[in-house]
Amino acid sequence: MMGAMDTLLILGAGVSGLSTAWFLHRRGVAVRVLEARSRPGGNLHTMREEGRLYEYGPNSTLQKPGSPEDGLGRLAEGLGLGSRCWEANPAAQRRYIVRGGRLIALPGSPPGFLATRAFSWRAKLRLMLEPLIGRADHEESIAEFVRRRLGQEFLDYAIEPFISGVYAGDPAVLSIRAAVPKIYNLERDHGSLIRGAFALHKVTQAGMPRGRLVGFDEGMGVLPRAIVEALPPGSVELGAAAHRLERLESGRWRAYWREGGAGEERFAEGEGLVLALPAPEAARLLEPFSAQAAEQLRGIAYAPIAAVMLGWRKEAVAHPLDGFGFLVPRKEGVRTLGGLFSSTLFPGRAPEGEGLLTCFIGGAMDAAALELSDEALIQQTQRDAGALIGAAEGAGFTRVTRHAAAIPQYRLGHLERLEAIDRALTPFPGLWTRANWREGISVADCIRQGEKTAERILQERVVPPFCTSIP
Ligand SMILES: Cc1cc2nc3c(=O)[nH]c(=O)nc-3n(C[C@H](O)[C@H](O)[C@H](O)COP(=O)(O)OP(=O)(O)OC[C@H]3O[C@@H](n4cnc5c(N)ncnc54)[C@H](O)[C@@H]3O)c2cc1C
Repeated sequence: MMGAMDTLLILGAGVSGLSTAWFLHRRGVAVRVLEARSRPGGNLHTMREEGRLYEYGPNSTLQKPGSPEDGLGRLAEGLGLGSRCWEANPAAQRRYIVRGGRLIALPGSPPGFLATRAFSWRAKLRLMLEPLIGRADHEESIAEFVRRRLGQEFLDYAIEPFISGVYAGDPAVLSIRAAVPKIYNLERDHGSLIRGAFALHKVTQAGMPRGRLVGFDEGMGVLPRAIVEALPPGSVELGAAAHRLERLESGRWRAYWREGGAGEERFAEGEGLVLALPAPEAARLLEPFSAQAAEQLRGIAYAPIAAVMLGWRKEAVAHPLDGFGFLVPRKEGVRTLGGLFSSTLFPGRAPEGEGLLTCFIGGAMDAAALELSDEALIQQTQRDAGALIGAAEGAGFTRVTRHAAAIPQYRLGHLERLEAIDRALTPFPGLWTRANWREGISVADCIRQGEKTAERILQERVVPPFCTSIP
């Protein structure tokens, strides 16, 4: 049983760990965060050099202002970052898809859908059958679900590229229920995606908050830095890669790390412990406590991805780059997965007159791409993107970033896997897991779930001693 809470120990200063820390701190709980790297933020990492702002990980995230799910809004306001949290250029609502080797804007309205060249008439007619299709009786992959409800062409030219843009994943093995619950819930709650979409549209028109795409003025790296500054000095220990955990007889948790990686062993202690780590790292630390939890965690696969930034002189590019970016269906036979029009998304991302693109390559279906040299990655993405945007010359600026384990894959059976992990960890009260391998991978999801984890920790801590004092 936990006594009065002194310190809560958090491993990992990515957005999951830091937002959990901040929401706890705001409620008066002391936190100690250990981070393996020399900087906070995990995937959130921004650099500015020579008039360009480079995002190594996410460029933006989807906020739901005013909704109970808006942990990001509460966090940004609480940190005094409200005015630095910028809505993306309205042009970013336009998203391009590649069809027949050309960029085609995806339709934004029902009349636009009827007129679009993104889908054939056959696919549009097939869509009309959707409300008549019944539910499945087993857990489906994204590919099975979409093929059943919407047909093969929608899978190929809408959903597969969208899944590649979010998960860099393979729709044939990702679970619709775990990976895209919003789409799955339309069928569950309304019996049809089309009926569900109309119902949601009505609710939105009646005043329910709409999502908006946001980023920070100086990039996503603003957020972790602001959280670290808002916590009491010394709360976040950088360069502290935990290599061993210990549970004391009192129920308290200790995490050990070596100074500078190989030096003197140090430890930090807390009444509770949150593992805000990638799944393989959580597995390694939990192995001595629960081989079963460790095995389940090791079963969570990650997709690798390389981001290649390409800067072109705008006059040398035929396309106006007037959108969020483009996605490439695999059927098109283009190796690059897609690209963001980074200099369009937010002002100040590139020198005047330069169009900056961030192209992604690799993913679960093309892990071999990560074996290419930087030069080969640049050549490939430059060739692919250059042809699509009509570039008359090579990119004047290039930079490659690699993520060997970028995005956790919510495959079939993922929700059962999470239940098995939680079951295996029930003998260890005071231990929580919170990271992007559960309940959503977007930055906004990680923050909302960090907030929820903080609430659960506070509830679990307050309720038991209070109850036992009742005669
Ligand atoms: C290339 C890329 C593009 C993305 N684009 C978007 C986007 O546009 N929009 C969006 O919303 N989301 C995007 N995402 C997803 C989102 O960025 C991540 O899901 C999110 O940042 C994960 O945060 P996290 O804290 O759970 O994990 P991480 O960021 O991985 O943080 C885990 C932390 O734990 C630390 N750590 C590891 N081992 C130890 C140890 N033993 N001891 C102490 N610390 C340790 C790591 O160093 C790291 O800092 C993108 C992700 C990537 C990789």
